[in-house]
Amino acid sequence: MGFNVAIDGPAGAGKSTIAKAVAKELNLIYVDTGAMYRAVALYMLREGVNLTDREAVAGKCPEAKVTIRYQDGIQVVFLNGENVNAYLRTEEVGEAASVISPIPQVRKNMVALQKSLAAESDCIMDGRDIGTCVLPDAQLKIYLTASSDVRARRRYDELAAKGEPCDFQKIKADIEDRDYRDMHREESPLRQAEDAVTVDTSDMTVQEVQAAIIELCRRAR
Ligand code: C5P
Repeated sequence: MGFNVAIDGPAGAGKSTIAKAVAKELNLIYVDTGAMYRAVALYMLREGVNLTDREAVAGKCPEAKVTIRYQDGIQVVFLNGENVNAYLRTEEVGEAASVISPIPQVRKNMVALQKSLAAESDCIMDGRDIGTCVLPDAQLKIYLTASSDVRARRRYDELAAKGEPCDFQKIKADIEDRDYRDMHREESPLRQAEDAVTVDTSDMTVQEVQAAIIELCRRAR
């Protein structure tokens, strides 16, 4: 096993921004596990599967082959051979991923893929169940969080900067719904691993969070 860092936390806590920056600084591979669930969700949306029909989703899972490659340090997700990176980061796909991710058939192959990536390389992996299920022996586990108000504000600012119309209260309600689903599902719910370090970023800048986590990684390594 190489050097593995697990970062879990709720939607919008800044996991991917931080993990990407830390990966670059410390020469680790950044494994974005949310993107894998999003790719399966994209497949279900494209196929018109009723996402709340667990059996229908489970039955379609074997048709959605997700593979990962790294190109210039960037994770590229392939869905049945097609590079789908450009379609994964929408609200629709994120919501759909959170609806189907509790289904065991959806998780099984993803977890196997994640474990094999971590076994092959020094990596920082973010998600919901990394410290608890995927990499229980990671040398460092971080639970990255922030209040739902702060997370919604960041999301709002991001969308507003892109000129996309958005409503703060709706964004906040969506974030809270997603937290609820991710934390209360039966299969691999989002929770803090006992040996994880909590970093609450509500009152921290991106630079401060990055510096704090790089320091934790250096010590763990
Ligand atoms: O992190 P991201 O927003 O890309 O994740 C999308 C959804 O995928 C989450 O809301 C969660 O339901 C699911 N997910 C998961 N386990 C992971 C990563 C993501 O269940 N390790």
